[in-house]
Amino acid sequence: MSRNLHVLASDEYEGRETGKKGQKMAAEYISNQFKSFGIPPYKDNTYYQTYPLNLILPVPADVTINKKKFIGNKDYYNFPGLSEQTITSANVLFLGYGIEEENYNDYKGADVKGKTIMILSGEPYDAAGKSIVTKSKQPSTWTTYYKVKTEKAKDVGAAAILIVVNDMEKGIADNKHRLESSALKLNLPQKEAPIIYISKEMADAILKKTTTEKIIAKISKSGKPLKIKAKANVVVDIKNNIQKIEAENVLGYVEGTDIKEELIIITAHYDHLGKEGDVVYNGADDDGSGTVAVINLAQAFTQAKKEGHGPRRSILFMPVSGEEKGLLGSAYYTENPVYPLKNTVCDLNIDMIGRLDEKHEKNSNYVYLIGSDKLSSQLHNVSEQANKTYTNIELDYTFDDEKDKNRFYYRSDHYNFAKKGIPVIFYFNGVHADYHKETDEVQKIDFVKMEKITRLVFFTAWELANRNQRIVVDSNKK
Ligand SMILES: [Zn+2]
Repeated sequence: MSRNLHVLASDEYEGRETGKKGQKMAAEYISNQFKSFGIPPYKDNTYYQTYPLNLILPVPADVTINKKKFIGNKDYYNFPGLSEQTITSANVLFLGYGIEEENYNDYKGADVKGKTIMILSGEPYDAAGKSIVTKSKQPSTWTTYYKVKTEKAKDVGAAAILIVVNDMEKGIADNKHRLESSALKLNLPQKEAPIIYISKEMADAILKKTTTEKIIAKISKSGKPLKIKAKANVVVDIKNNIQKIEAENVLGYVEGTDIKEELIIITAHYDHLGKEGDVVYNGADDDGSGTVAVINLAQAFTQAKKEGHGPRRSILFMPVSGEEKGLLGSAYYTENPVYPLKNTVCDLNIDMIGRLDEKHEKNSNYVYLIGSDKLSSQLHNVSEQANKTYTNIELDYTFDDEKDKNRFYYRSDHYNFAKKGIPVIFYFNGVHADYHKETDEVQKIDFVKMEKITRLVFFTAWELANRNQRIVVDSNKK
């Protein structure tokens, strides 16, 4: 695992960004490993499932207020990947901070549907500088106010969402990287309300009779939500510049014996964040660690097969790409499965197993398991039993709690399988200081810990592949 990870997480692989040179090099490296173990290509001389992607280049929308044309990335900004459309509105609903439910209750259904909504960014403070948002409505660290607000606005059918940014210059500087990066999508986005971040001057041009500053002061004093119906002609025009590109999932298919039509899938994402100038995001833990674990598992099962102990069910070892861009590779596979989903018993997904999180700083003998009992109590039991018999790792189920604000269950490739009703286990060490930073380097990997977790996946997969009865789907937990 160390040898493979020193290759895949080296600067030469340029951070393995989906669609770019480093990702292609990684795909080739992984398929060469599969080949060297004696795994044949799954079809027509290839290990690849190649899928099409739309690279949406960063082009700001055109925004006009009362016939005055404003300038993108100066007066306002928007992230790339909005759906192409032109939205013209004669009224704008200004909903203050747009956090409190009350704001939306008055504007349900027909009132909001198809309208342009304007909301202030951040949260309201009282004179003493304390937030006046009800505690229960304060979002977690991961779910930002933006997300809470914009999802609600989309839910009620807004046509466009204008978010008033306190400091436009800072907003543009803080988001420079995202504003200059292309968006990557499997399909062209469905018509969805665009989010445009506008300056206070633009908001004032919409309000006319009052100013943003005055309203902020008013909310701070009264502590009450506010809504204003402003008569203003706002046009948002979005035209995209799209390049068609391709990316690859790598498939190592080890055929089973007497129950070979049934399939266990073991996934990890081999893509990462790429590079910015000379800074390479090597992603040794995320998810170089899972990728080399899958390579090793493929080798172990192939070796067993050569020695006459091949699995009864087939096993698909599938490092996927596109995860960092929105779980794209696994989404493509589950929409275009090579082997029927109804014969797919489960997905064991490994994403980050080489490091320690803060909670376990002093104890490397742990792994978070996520989702193991959500669809199949039998899968959970198989996993528990494998650990008890062979590995004795502390299995931490903290993140199975639906109330946990990190929502990790929804954030890696297994989720695309779970969505299709296929039981999953997500193996994860939690986040750490180097998560999504250029400092996620191979020197910091704990290979002893990684090996132990990989063995747990091995014993679990072995039982799932060889037991008489296929595990059944017997629950549907959130
Ligand atoms: Zn990851």
